[in-house]
Amino acid sequence: MPASDYFIVTKRCEVIVVGAGPAGIVAAIAARRLGLQAIVLDARTPPIDKPCGEGILPQGAAALRRLGISLPSESAFPFHGIRFVDGEHSARADFAGATGFSVRRVKLHQLLANHAVEAGVEFRWGARVMQIDAETVTTAKERFSYRWLVGADGQNSQVRKWAGIDPRIVRRKRFGFCSHFQVRPWPDAVEVHWARGCQIFITPMAGEEVGVSVLSHDPTLRLEGALMRFPALADKLRGATQTTRESGDATSLRILPAITRGRVALVGDASGTVDAVTGHGLSLSFQQAIPLAEAMRLGDLAHYRHAHKHIAAVPIAMSRLMLLMGGSDWIRRRTMRLFQETPGLFSQLLAIHAETLPLSSVGMAEIAGFGWKFLRT
Ligand SMILES: Cc1cc2nc3c(=O)[nH]c(=O)nc-3n(C[C@H](O)[C@H](O)[C@H](O)COP(=O)(O)OP(=O)(O)OC[C@H]3O[C@@H](n4cnc5c(N)ncnc54)[C@H](O)[C@@H]3O)c2cc1C
Repeated sequence: MPASDYFIVTKRCEVIVVGAGPAGIVAAIAARRLGLQAIVLDARTPPIDKPCGEGILPQGAAALRRLGISLPSESAFPFHGIRFVDGEHSARADFAGATGFSVRRVKLHQLLANHAVEAGVEFRWGARVMQIDAETVTTAKERFSYRWLVGADGQNSQVRKWAGIDPRIVRRKRFGFCSHFQVRPWPDAVEVHWARGCQIFITPMAGEEVGVSVLSHDPTLRLEGALMRFPALADKLRGATQTTRESGDATSLRILPAITRGRVALVGDASGTVDAVTGHGLSLSFQQAIPLAEAMRLGDLAHYRHAHKHIAAVPIAMSRLMLLMGGSDWIRRRTMRLFQETPGLFSQLLAIHAETLPLSSVGMAEIAGFGWKFLRT
């Protein structure tokens, strides 16, 4: 035992959350709302930023509302649909009565952290978790014994490694680079621009700003280089002031064989990821927080395992579909033509994406009909 261990007092806590990203903070808020004591540890200090497209889908915003978290209009920009653009083809669909929101990550972090403090969550900032065992979690200064340990420490989760859960990366890793530009108001839809080997997505933000993110398999492809493949978009952004430095992160479709082990549960990116092009990451973590808290309250994580699987099903399917589109010019062009010629199909898919329509609502006859149209387009 290192000498310093003699001076560390073990503090008891019902729920220890490792990671104060959006997933960890919202999981702690949900736990507090059910009366559980929660402490969140993060290696970093606020305000915490992260490369992200910053769009929250309608189901993510709804989960936040269920937890009493409303997104203030001065920092959250409402968007009502998605527009796909591929060269000469474009298609737009709306969320049919639902609304998504975009919020700058630093603002979202501050907002969530403030809510958490009001709800009675305790934080330890600058507290990197150094050691985890079946009873305790240790940082440089403190040790906590836990009833429940929540791993919300992102896609390279240490908690997951310690619990011995190996992720299966289903699709090759991709890389995303994000920045912001000051522009005149953009339409109230997130735009996904498709080209060979990459996508650029534009998120309209509050304050006449847009978030611009490029996604590709190439770790060296930055915004400037990517924009050469999108001349019309490059024209729109020409002369606009870049307001943030470009920063990047990896993204992949990563499915886990388990998301709990004993009294340990994973949430957010630690519990699996979908490709960033789906815009699902934040919403998934907000939706997961509610059944996770219920499961800890019930004393049975099986409830969370079941709900997690259900919540992830559509995003995983959408991730596969969109990666298929991104990976083949032939598929992408046919799909775009089909979306443009059959706007109802794009609306239906978006409704499934935003969970205003269940996946089961699409019958076999309809799938066969679309398959036939796809081949004839
Ligand atoms: C390019 C790109 C674009 C994206 N666009 C979107 C989008 O438009 N919409 C969307 O919903 N999602 C998007 N995502 C996904 C989204 O960013 C993630 O799903 C989200 O950040 C996950 O949050 P999290 O809290 O699980 O993890 P993180 O935000 O990664 O937080 C993890 C936290 O854990 C802490 N931590 C790690 N290890 C330790 C340790 N040992 N001790 C203490 N603390 C630790 C870290 O400091 C960090 O604060 C995008 C992702 C990328 C890469």
